[in-house]
Amino acid sequence: MNREGRGATAPTAGTAAQAPATFTGNRGLDLEEGLIFEIGRSEVTGVDIPEPPDFRARLGGLERKVAPDLPGLSEPEAMRHYVRLSRMNYGIDSGLFPLGSCTMKHNPRLNEKMARLAGFADIHPLQPVSTVQGALAVMTELSRYLLELTGMAAVALPPKAGAHGELCGMMAIKAAHLAADQGHRHVVVVPESAHGTNPATAASIGYEVRAIPARADGTVDVEAVKAALSPEVAALMLTNPNTCGLFEPDVVKIAAAVHEAGAYFYADGANFNAILGKVRIGDLGVDAMHINLHKTFSTPHGGGGPGAGPVVLSPALAPFAPVPCVVEHGGALTLVEDEGAAGAEAALGRMSAFHGQMGMFVRALAWMLSHGADGMRQASEDAVLSANYVRASLNDLMSVPFPDRPAMHEALFDDTWLAGTGISTLDVAKALIDEGYHPMTVYFPLVVHGAMLIEPTESESKASLDLFIATLRDLALAAKAGDTARFLGAPYYAPRRRLDETRAARAPVLRWLKSAPLGAAAE
Ligand SMILES: *Cc1c(COP(=O)(O)O)cnc(C)c1O
Repeated sequence: MNREGRGATAPTAGTAAQAPATFTGNRGLDLEEGLIFEIGRSEVTGVDIPEPPDFRARLGGLERKVAPDLPGLSEPEAMRHYVRLSRMNYGIDSGLFPLGSCTMKHNPRLNEKMARLAGFADIHPLQPVSTVQGALAVMTELSRYLLELTGMAAVALPPKAGAHGELCGMMAIKAAHLAADQGHRHVVVVPESAHGTNPATAASIGYEVRAIPARADGTVDVEAVKAALSPEVAALMLTNPNTCGLFEPDVVKIAAAVHEAGAYFYADGANFNAILGKVRIGDLGVDAMHINLHKTFSTPHGGGGPGAGPVVLSPALAPFAPVPCVVEHGGALTLVEDEGAAGAEAALGRMSAFHGQMGMFVRALAWMLSHGADGMRQASEDAVLSANYVRASLNDLMSVPFPDRPAMHEALFDDTWLAGTGISTLDVAKALIDEGYHPMTVYFPLVVHGAMLIEPTESESKASLDLFIATLRDLALAAKAGDTARFLGAPYYAPRRRLDETRAARAPVLRWLKSAPLGAAAE
């Protein structure tokens, strides 16, 4: 590992400039940690098992001749290794996490307690259904709540993330077209402002993606949708509120135009947090929408998992929902496992091995029950209020691309305010790391130049929002005053400085090799 990037060499950043290098590489109690392959020793193990007295291999000469060369650590060393790594992670439990489009909200510990109950945590998907009736009841109750909140006809619980839910919904649309002899429809219309997963999902199941531009005010033009529709179009995919944080005012007209053209309306529900308890998307004419339980309903996410992306479906698409699904039969709950079976005659098949993410179902239902109908409505109102507070507190220093419309749950800025400073959106994000914040989402949505997308969520107090706003104001004033060093060299205080992000994405080194030359890793 290359340790030269450690941050004791800031040219201008206050104390960092004077900070001496340390012998250990540690900085105070901020501990440096190598890979387990670098610190482990092959002769050490955490367990001490005596050699069996009279050992004869029965592998017919196939037994290993040399030790496997796995790194070993004593038990305290192993414990420290993983705890040190965990301390390098920034999460919603460490501080405000303004990442737009991700709804990084507080995960109440009550949910964790519920998910850890033995009746949920210690069951196995292959257990007889007679022994997991309570778990199936939770899935049924969660479904009932999701249908009530969306005004839709059916919900499929198996998808394991938002993108997986998109795949499920789009596969249901494809199955419905095939069943209606409309298999020739091969185009999916997607606004330019869409999340990348939308066109990727459509393309991955063989659809041709047709993009439509956004209006100058950041919303989708119903006339542009109409112009893109034809007998070749299978579906429109639209996010509402959209990725610019704006509610699509023409959504009902857009839905009508899509249906008139014989296509289906897929809604990306990742931004449901803004309208939860306020709008039932079934009333808007939506045919399918995924819900990121791990965003709207607070279940922990980040770092690749776990997620849960149930999909709600309109009456037209409900028959095509995947298996397994929970049905009530003779007073007991059971899982319909096979497509074609009674209750799943037209099912599109299976999205995952089992029924979905049980722990996330429990957490989401616990969140719903502890909030109640009024609490959920309040949560989305507070999320929208927080975003507008952030926007209104910064819009004299930072530029807002669509100032005429109120924001929904996220505040969007562009980089016009940085013009002439020599500082970019990326530099601002890096400087925010030095201030102890995870950066906001940057350069997304793509339709806004140098975008900075901030989603504070409802779980931040006013005091915590005020400190975040004050920090951004301080950075904005420094940028305008020409303090470029604070930005261009940032982060100064992070365990690692700037990485070659392009190289890390294009040529990732994912496997540690003993002989890897120094500098071969992304850093
Ligand atoms: C997060 C998100 C997705 C994808 O959800 P994952 O759970 O990350 O797969 C899709 N669309 C939008 C707008 C999102 O914010």
